[in-house]
Amino acid sequence: MALPTLLPAMAYESVNPFDGKTLKTFVETTDAQLETKIAAAQACYATWRLKTYAERATIVANAAKIMRAKVDEFARTATLEMGKRINEARGEVQFSADILAYYAKNAERFLAPVKLNPKIGQAHMESSPMGIIFGVEPWNFPFYQLARVAGPHLMAGNVLMVKHAGIVPQCAIAFEKLWVEAGAPAGLYTNLLITYEQAKRVVDDPRIKGVALTGSVAAGKSIASRAGRNVKVSSMELGGSDAFIVLEDADLELAIKWAVWGRMYNTGQTCCAAKRFIVVEQLADTFLEKFRTALAALKPGDPLDEKTTLGPLSTESALVQLLKQVDAAVSHGAKVVLGGKRIDRPGSFMQPTILTNITPKNPAFREEFFGPVALFFRVKDEDEAIALANDSDFGLGGYVFTRDEARGQRVASRVETGMMFINNMSWSDADLPFGGIKDSGYGRELGDMGIQQFVNKKLVRFGSIEAPST
Ligand code: NAP
Repeated sequence: MALPTLLPAMAYESVNPFDGKTLKTFVETTDAQLETKIAAAQACYATWRLKTYAERATIVANAAKIMRAKVDEFARTATLEMGKRINEARGEVQFSADILAYYAKNAERFLAPVKLNPKIGQAHMESSPMGIIFGVEPWNFPFYQLARVAGPHLMAGNVLMVKHAGIVPQCAIAFEKLWVEAGAPAGLYTNLLITYEQAKRVVDDPRIKGVALTGSVAAGKSIASRAGRNVKVSSMELGGSDAFIVLEDADLELAIKWAVWGRMYNTGQTCCAAKRFIVVEQLADTFLEKFRTALAALKPGDPLDEKTTLGPLSTESALVQLLKQVDAAVSHGAKVVLGGKRIDRPGSFMQPTILTNITPKNPAFREEFFGPVALFFRVKDEDEAIALANDSDFGLGGYVFTRDEARGQRVASRVETGMMFINNMSWSDADLPFGGIKDSGYGRELGDMGIQQFVNKKLVRFGSIEAPST
């Protein structure tokens, strides 16, 4: 009799979610290959850490240039593997190149020694690299997620080994090849097609000095606890159920535009997508009607076709999981205002969906819906909106719409998240920190903070300090 499998079957396989056809399968990295790769990364670190910022910047800026020159090629790979609409994929590749270029330009300034002012003698803090950093990354932004770790950590003098998601091996391999093409020394950036068991052993390996994971809360808990057991620094960028608050003095047309984009961009598969729409009662009915009409107008189609307005979910299993969540929400009293079902056509397409009447007893109240499903809440006033926004296990981002910017800033300060946006949803820029609190994780990526994550902050004290008499 076959034993039940305790861990999910691990496979690296490209399947086009538009039609369910398998594009390519991959053989996993063996333990012997893994050891060779770690040894190569360690050897690379010995010299990379000694390079000047200018020398590192040449390679990282080259990688940015190549990405820009091959936007279409990278974008097409992402669209075919995980179903992102082609224009969104192109935007993601451009942005990934921008992140690499940003760190090539600014890393030296961010990591420059900081003079301290002790009462006696002199001192400064200097930043030095730590060694091999292990990244575990998700499929929903198959290039941006990699650039977000590669730009800062390589410029800091670390080297990277990355386990990318099982469904985007072609993106993972394309990004590894990019570094070879950019002139990187062997071992600077290594893609690993490894199992969860092997990933644990990578975290345990004494040559690995830090772990950066972006993904679900479950993955975060597993890898963060392993890192903690090994007393290794880690950063966790996990899920979210961001509140989109609309106050009675909001510009409704503006709020609707962002609401549609913020829920449906990347077919709703974004950590910081607006997932809970919290609208003050004066605007609630009008908002809901306009939102429903806009979502209902989206047209499913081939994500490679620029005219398509609704792409597939990343996989059949992602669709099945989301449908289960919707069914469970409905069986606990939620009302379906729009959608709720799979779309009757090949591929993993889900109807844009709006659920209302979600009470705190409904499992949907605390879950993340990773796809085109919006939860709608009607509240009495600003205080009730903030209380509801904060009644979440997550704390990634949040949005508030009001014509009174000072009021928007007050609300932003009271919502417990890592990021807040007033009258916009411009989530991510190379120069702004990104990350959350509570179950959404810890640490920040991007901006100045992103490069400080895996560096040794060393105190150096000098000058004339008298020795104590014995
Ligand atoms: P996931 O299932 O947690 O996968 C993320 C990565 O972790 C994949 O490479 C996955 O490998 C790996 N993984 C999962 N469990 C693991 C374990 N026990 N040991 C080692 N590796 C493990 O998440 P996902 O479904 O791909 O991504 C969606 C989630 O990521 C959502 O919750 C989303 O909100 C979150 N996310 C957060 C951010 C942020 O910046 N905060 C950004 C993007 C996404 P396999 O693919 O091989 O299973």
